[in-house]
Amino acid sequence: MIDYKIINAYVVTVNSEFLIIENGCVCIENDTIAHICETCDSHDIEAETVIDAQGNLLLPGFINAHTHAGMNIFKGYADDLPLQQWLFDYVFPVEAKFTNRENVKIGSSLALLEMIASGTTCFADMYYFVEETARLCEEIGMRAILSQPIVDFPVADAATPDEALQLCETLMQRFANHHLVQVVPAPHSIYTCSAEYVQKARALANRFNAPLHTHLSETAEEYNNCIEQHAKTPIEYLNDLGCFDGKTIAAHCVYVSENDREILAQKRVCAVNNMQSNLKLVSGVSPVPELLESGVKVCFGTDSVVSNNSLDMYTEIKTAALVHKYRSGNASALGAQQTVFMATRGAAECLGIDHLCGSIEVGKKADLQIVNINQIHVVPLYNIYSHIVYALQGGDVDTVFINGKCVYLHKHFQGIDAFDVMVRAQELANTIIDEMANR
Ligand SMILES: [Zn+2]
Repeated sequence: MIDYKIINAYVVTVNSEFLIIENGCVCIENDTIAHICETCDSHDIEAETVIDAQGNLLLPGFINAHTHAGMNIFKGYADDLPLQQWLFDYVFPVEAKFTNRENVKIGSSLALLEMIASGTTCFADMYYFVEETARLCEEIGMRAILSQPIVDFPVADAATPDEALQLCETLMQRFANHHLVQVVPAPHSIYTCSAEYVQKARALANRFNAPLHTHLSETAEEYNNCIEQHAKTPIEYLNDLGCFDGKTIAAHCVYVSENDREILAQKRVCAVNNMQSNLKLVSGVSPVPELLESGVKVCFGTDSVVSNNSLDMYTEIKTAALVHKYRSGNASALGAQQTVFMATRGAAECLGIDHLCGSIEVGKKADLQIVNINQIHVVPLYNIYSHIVYALQGGDVDTVFINGKCVYLHKHFQGIDAFDVMVRAQELANTIIDEMANR
């Protein structure tokens, strides 16, 4: 007797052959995909629970490779402002006042639920009070690579960068070999974290064979200042510090020279494209087709909801695909199948977790989404990849499994009161409105 049998599914495996099974059956035993069958009556395996997908899409869960989950409490607080004013007059002051353990819990709860309900089963995060987000991932059943920010100045969960490193190491030890959560260090960026702490963070990551997560070459200002100060691009600067001598998750990579592309490819740096965030803050557009051409591994992230304002990977990948076509003047750039790959198995390869997830294959962990394709906006069906990138939306997701656990069934969260999370978030927002107005 196995745990789950999902029958009558339009299975898009995203395996190395990009196999599609139109009327397939996927069996889950404990946390793992145990069987994948071409037809449902080719075996007599009995399951505790049978889910009839009714011809709907069964796809690997998406991987959102750059987020700041705790910031979900600030969604929509300040929009439509120039970057400097937005950051210094709104985001930093409200963060300084309201980023604490309890509020990060509320923000991360919102983020986890939003991600799950839109088909994301794993995320790479960077925010304070990592332990709270880690506990939520355990409770709800979400896969995550959570990073501890390391900056030169005092922040909500650490008075000094040494304290942040110590905290990070403690959490890395505590979550070593955890079934869902990995903790890693995050020197925030070259303009907030000095060379010394970039190198200390790299050494810490390497001691645990873990990736390091950072923001990299996001704006023209960062790029130009770095050249002015160090006579190097941000990528050359970090490379010379040894920052890429180990697994690296680098968010943004908007300003990238030809030499930078070679460095990223050679050092196998994972570049995370945050298209909607880069558009909203007018940061620029990462040359993703050129990065891919140079052999750089690229995946997608939403960044925080403060600069997006959504964690829905369906809208993120559609926007990314469209803008890359427009910027490169090539309608074939980021084709639908490639884009789906980059949001699933490709992202898992980038993050070094492709032995666990990213595709529907026997032996991998069951991180899956069932998506309703019996709807007017996705009929008729010629090419499923086209629908995934250009026609489907996060709201079409019906059911989600993570690590073999059904966390979202027919649009209902399992084992968490989403209404209670929403009430607490709105109460907090009301307090934020009052207190920031009386500042
Ligand atoms: Zn970010």
